[in-house]
Amino acid sequence: MRTSIASAGSMDPRNEASAARYPVPPGEGGLAALIRTLGFSCTRCGECCRGESGDDPLVLVTPAEVREIIRSDGSRWEEVAEPFPCFIRHGESGSHTFEWCLRRDGDRCRFLGEEGGCGIYTSRPWICRTYPFVLDEGDLLVFPCPGLGTELTAAEAEALATDISARERFEREEEDRIRSVLARTPLPSGRLMIDGEGVKVLHG
Ligand code: SF4
Repeated sequence: MRTSIASAGSMDPRNEASAARYPVPPGEGGLAALIRTLGFSCTRCGECCRGESGDDPLVLVTPAEVREIIRSDGSRWEEVAEPFPCFIRHGESGSHTFEWCLRRDGDRCRFLGEEGGCGIYTSRPWICRTYPFVLDEGDLLVFPCPGLGTELTAAEAEALATDISARERFEREEEDRIRSVLARTPLPSGRLMIDGEGVKVLHG
């Protein structure tokens, strides 16, 4: 869905049209109960890490997530992340984008190993930890995934629900930071990244 600050929704890279939408039952435990009904277990197939069905493997990440990967992996920023490739024009000669995504290697995430495993599993971003689920305005969006329909325990469903809710809060906070940056910073010309840390001029 390639969400930006303009649409202020989730940050899942897949086309939202491919997702099923379920209302989350009200009350504590409603999300976990829904997830348990749907069933899920990651098969480590790596499909969500590759460009399947014509989708780009755009894995959106915040600056904090990029720094966490750098800390664990030792890579440089430009080896981890690239600007989200959708720029909005401003002024006479300016353009800007709002998000980073993990660097791609052709049609796959650059951290996907040849055997299919994630090379940064312990520091993988929220979007990877919670795929194929994302909260959207009180609904649960569920993207196509071979792991769906697999029985999971109540504790596993509860843990996943906690992660999905935490991800929603994390993304909302990042969007608030971006709005704050936008409100206080005049945009210079050039190619810019506007993230929660500020306005950054992109080179190259
Ligand atoms: S970071 Fe890991 S889990 Fe996420 S898309 Fe890349 S290889 Fe897949």
